[in-house]
Amino acid sequence: MRPFTYERATSPAAAAAAVERNPGARFIAGGTNLLDLMKLEIETPVQLVDVNGLKLDSVEPTPDGGLRIGALVRNTDLAADPRVRRDYGVLSRALLAGASGQLRNKATTAGNLLQRTRCPYFYDTGQPCNKRQPGSGCAAIGGFSRQLAVIGGSDACIATHPSDMAVAMRALDATVETVRPDGAVRTIPVADLHRLPGDTPQIETALEHGELITAVALPKPAGGAQIYRKVRDRASYAFALVSVAAIVQPDGSGRVALGGVAPKPWRVEAAEAEMPRGAKAVAARLLAGAKPTDDNAFKLPLVERTLGAVLAEAKG
Ligand SMILES: Cc1cc2nc3c(=O)[nH]c(=O)nc-3n(C[C@H](O)[C@H](O)[C@H](O)COP(=O)(O)OP(=O)(O)OC[C@H]3O[C@@H](n4cnc5c(N)ncnc54)[C@H](O)[C@@H]3O)c2cc1C
Ligand code: SF4
Repeated sequence: MRPFTYERATSPAAAAAAVERNPGARFIAGGTNLLDLMKLEIETPVQLVDVNGLKLDSVEPTPDGGLRIGALVRNTDLAADPRVRRDYGVLSRALLAGASGQLRNKATTAGNLLQRTRCPYFYDTGQPCNKRQPGSGCAAIGGFSRQLAVIGGSDACIATHPSDMAVAMRALDATVETVRPDGAVRTIPVADLHRLPGDTPQIETALEHGELITAVALPKPAGGAQIYRKVRDRASYAFALVSVAAIVQPDGSGRVALGGVAPKPWRVEAAEAEMPRGAKAVAARLLAGAKPTDDNAFKLPLVERTLGAVLAEAKG
């Protein structure tokens, strides 16, 4: 690990300004992703700005009947919140499907959204990776790509986004609240937070350097049956091969987002019109234009079957 300086931020605006001043600075929250990346010298920040003391760790009701989740709310606490369990079951279930109990005790809402890909070549500094080292190439294309994206990738990168929580937030139409280094606040639909790789896979989000996530807002409860189903190689401590977050209304309409298949939580609103016609029709619209590799073509039928199981569970 390379040497770095460390400071505790005293306010959200001060945290944002401290990171903005130094191109090599990073926020640190739970540290469960960033510290691993630093030990492997994939991330080499020269300054860490600790945001844990910013009192962004509560879940509050909003005037429009929704919930505002502080950026520092731990994954364990969010999953256990009675309002989340009652009104946003898909979110609670997605959180509990992620990582392990110990990790969820440390992991934060913002850190979870901003965790980086688990592409094995991103972690292997002996391999070319356009995301880690722009312009070096992509070892995954033509390499081992079982875990990687079947849709939304590019000739430069086919990494998937690893978060379970983000997939549920996409289905719930969540909005991210931020503070910029000049103190201005803005809101970003979670749909627009993560970018597709295109020619610049190293630019992963719509955030500016130094822009701090302060909260995630959920709209008023959508009702319906809320299900999160994650298919993975092991029952614990494993990232999704495919996951489905679904909100299904009694008349069969609803919303569906996928994890494990794309560089961002994958939702195609037009596909949801097909929900009353069943999983095959929805999956066909969701995955139109997919470009799987030989290693991960199995994800296409797996999406259809997982979605079928979710819709059957919702009916039941
Ligand atoms: C063994 C293992 C298994 C895992 N399995 C899963 C899994 O199955 N599913 C899953 O979803 N996740 C899984 N995870 C990932 C885990 O959920 C993330 O590491 C965690 O959510 C990151 O949160 P954090 O607070 O620790 O982030 P940190 O590591 O502190 O930060 C992550 C990134 O977010 C930035 N950041 C943090 N807070 C803010 C903020 N407020 N504003 C702007 N930027 C910020 C940091 O600068 C950094 O770039 C696993 C992790 C491990 C180690
Ligand atoms: S898929 Fe993306 S993260 Fe993986 S090696 Fe290629 S460029 Fe790097």
